[in-house]
Amino acid sequence: MARSRRVHQAGGTCEGVLPEVRLMDEKLRQEITNWLQFYRELGIEEFYRREPGASASAGPLPQPAAPLTVSRNDVPSAIHASVTPPRAVTQPVAPEHLPGALASPPPRVEVPPATPIRPPVASFSLFETPVPKPTGPEALEQIRADLGDCRRCKLAGGRKTIVFGEGNPHAELVFVGEGPGADEDEQGLPFVGRAGQLLNRMIQMIGMKRQEVYICNVVKCRPPGNRVPEKDEIETCSPFLFRQLESIKPRLICCLGAPAVKTVLGIKEGITRIHGQFYDFAASKALATVHPAYVLRNPREEKILREDFEKVREFLKSK
Ligand code: URA
Repeated sequence: MARSRRVHQAGGTCEGVLPEVRLMDEKLRQEITNWLQFYRELGIEEFYRREPGASASAGPLPQPAAPLTVSRNDVPSAIHASVTPPRAVTQPVAPEHLPGALASPPPRVEVPPATPIRPPVASFSLFETPVPKPTGPEALEQIRADLGDCRRCKLAGGRKTIVFGEGNPHAELVFVGEGPGADEDEQGLPFVGRAGQLLNRMIQMIGMKRQEVYICNVVKCRPPGNRVPEKDEIETCSPFLFRQLESIKPRLICCLGAPAVKTVLGIKEGITRIHGQFYDFAASKALATVHPAYVLRNPREEKILREDFEKVREFLKSK
């Protein structure tokens, strides 16, 4: 049975939802409306507030609900809970490194935080049918449409093209790089420059074709001068990456370089220490390896990339 009260459907406005919401001052209402709009664009449509003390397990229904007040604290925390994507379970992850955590939530006021969450599927009532999430090409098209002509972070100012990602929407293998370089920015496609040629060679080496896999990046716009994407840029862009991974549901995610490893797996340890190991990411496995651009700068390290790609081949062979 439903253990949560639906607070708001992000597709609408705050008008007419709850008396308390109507009573909010205009600034707070606008702030919440902006958050809801932002998260609707990320594909998050509904927000829930669990009653204090309620747990996700079966149990008696909460008694008539206490009046719901929406505080400045509530909305960001509801959103945090909803957007935090599946993460690696083999390594503990500090909250600030969770993928999808927000860089700078809106200003907070002193109100005890509630724990609003998206309810687990098991908590739907008989009258609420969970809608299965779309997968495959339609889902990717929707994510691309939600991204739109993105101006959500400062990378937008310097980019020519958004590099969304390319490849098989049902790929067993997904590569996640760092961010587009100059060639990718020109062409709107990931890994088409020198690093991309090396990646193509590795893909061929393990008996696969580039069209069979899916390739994307942690950020979808080129960082100026090919610098490493910054925390706020990654936090703004990564929800779209997580939606891509969720819709493709690959067997294996290959993280190329430290920013991808940190974003997808929440692991900060040096890549040369953790490369070649398999981690859990939702229903997928994930493997970390060095970035092809790093190998171009340090040709002797190509053997790391080769060894890790052999592990990819072995993994995909085992059904
Ligand atoms: N490097 C990346 O991380 N991604 C690209 O798409 C190209 C180069």
